[in-house]
Amino acid sequence: MSCGDKKKKIIKTIKIDPDKCNGCRACEIICSAFHATPKYSSNNIARSRIRVIRDPLKDIYVPVYAGEIATAECMGRDKYVIDGKEYDECAFCRASCPSRNIFKEPDSGLPLKCDMCEDDPPQKEPLCVQWCLAEALTYEEREEEVEEEEANMSDMETGLQSLVDKYGLQNLVDTIIRMSRKD
Ligand code: SF4
Ligand code: SF4
Repeated sequence: MSCGDKKKKIIKTIKIDPDKCNGCRACEIICSAFHATPKYSSNNIARSRIRVIRDPLKDIYVPVYAGEIATAECMGRDKYVIDGKEYDECAFCRASCPSRNIFKEPDSGLPLKCDMCEDDPPQKEPLCVQWCLAEALTYEEREEEVEEEEANMSDMETGLQSLVDKYGLQNLVDTIIRMSRKD
């Protein structure tokens, strides 16, 4: 892989304050509706790129965003204990991973990743932030120098690898050829 030039890039961040989250799940609903096909045609939260880990009895709610895609499950496990409650292994992990069903498209099983609502139509702020009336989610932007080409290539390779793992290389190639013949 060639060494990419340093480029200015806007880094988008969503700051999460679990103390303010009341578990209303509006963030899950709007994210799943925005990513439905066609847009806003359904609100199945299994399609959401944000999930709220909940313990209503203790009034604990922790929003977790879908992050990087893992093509193989990791060797270790994390266990969190918060206010005496032990959460499931991997409960706060952000990865779509072969060992669990969270952060996977329910119909196809393909991995989900938060895309900051960078879709058509463009949003002035991510929709989950706009819908969080409790202000548990706040949006920030800053400019940084990054090796942009390498980062983009890595994302694309990871996405392609997960498709190959799920459907097989030949099926993937056949589908791309069939799609390219349309129109
Ligand atoms: S919309 Fe805000 S308050 Fe409601 S569950 Fe999501 S993060 Fe928590
Ligand atoms: S930023 Fe957009 S894609 Fe990411 S979790 Fe929020 S609503 Fe979903």
